[in-house]
Amino acid sequence: MIDHLGRNIDYLRISLTDRCNLRCLYCMSEKGIDKVSHSDILSYERIYAITKVLASLGIKKVRLTGGEPLVRKEVAKLVMMLRSIEGIKEICLTTNATLLKKAAKDLKAAGLDRLNISLDSLDPQKYAYITRGGNLKDALEGIKEAQKYFDKIKINAVLLKGFNDDEIDDYLKFAKSEKLYVRFIELMPLGVAKAYRKFLLDPLEVLDKRTDLKKLPDPDGVAELYELKDSPITIGAIRALSHSFCSRCNRLRLTADGHIKPCLFAKEEIDVSTLDDKELYDTLKDIIYHKPDNKESVALTGRLMNEIGG
Ligand code: SAM
Ligand code: SF4
Repeated sequence: MIDHLGRNIDYLRISLTDRCNLRCLYCMSEKGIDKVSHSDILSYERIYAITKVLASLGIKKVRLTGGEPLVRKEVAKLVMMLRSIEGIKEICLTTNATLLKKAAKDLKAAGLDRLNISLDSLDPQKYAYITRGGNLKDALEGIKEAQKYFDKIKINAVLLKGFNDDEIDDYLKFAKSEKLYVRFIELMPLGVAKAYRKFLLDPLEVLDKRTDLKKLPDPDGVAELYELKDSPITIGAIRALSHSFCSRCNRLRLTADGHIKPCLFAKEEIDVSTLDDKELYDTLKDIIYHKPDNKESVALTGRLMNEIGG
């Protein structure tokens, strides 16, 4: 559906849970979170019902995220349910991959199209530091298993000054040898990340300087792309802070507790957890049409990234 600014809103990001088995420094606090109680988390049936109405309003692509989506049971079952909705053309999942080894095959069989995997360091000690205790081996094993079933896996690394900006060579080597599409992401100083401004670094600044990368003229959605010498894969840079995507934003977000967020940065969210089908249709249509113009025009959210889903 087209909103009041003429943007075609066709992409829904669904946070399946605010829980996570890791505690990335810039995403969650050390002690974790005040977990949303199980009874407030949307059931798969409810997620299906909301997505079905959104599909009738023009949503074509769905991304499952979290928290860590794979801490929820039987995510493959949800993928299968969403797959059956007319109009949904693509289903993707964003995960830290530490629980992927067991889940990859079932996710593929259920109809998952694409995987994005977050990996902020290739060094076991640094990985454990940034995730507050995560085991790099678990994530790498998850990636290896997923490669049996999925093409064009994207690896997302939040580029952090003084932490992993010395690992670009390693990432490019990894990308080349494993045929993985690495994308460097700029930190967004939201939630707990406000305390980590010292990490801020524009990925374009770093990648533009490299002689082994050649910038491509056309961005791929929100990512600037680079060709990697002697390799068919591309490397990306995503800058939500230095560059505004608002005029091209095509997204809605559904939180694990059943609120629609029409803008990542905005406080505004609408509870759709208990509406009947008619109310859902009217409410969602109204939300889409009135999607905020840009991030500068909204009151900032107090939600943490693990609740919103990135
Ligand atoms: N747990 C899954 C994962 O890590 O891929 C999915 C949820 S996580 C919130 C989704 C993405 O948001 C991850 O790639 C993570 O690095 C990113 N993220 C979290 N907080 C961020 C922040 N303040 N700025 C930029 N990216 C952030
Ligand atoms: Fe968990 Fe993903 Fe947040 Fe890390 S970025 S704490 S893996 S939700």
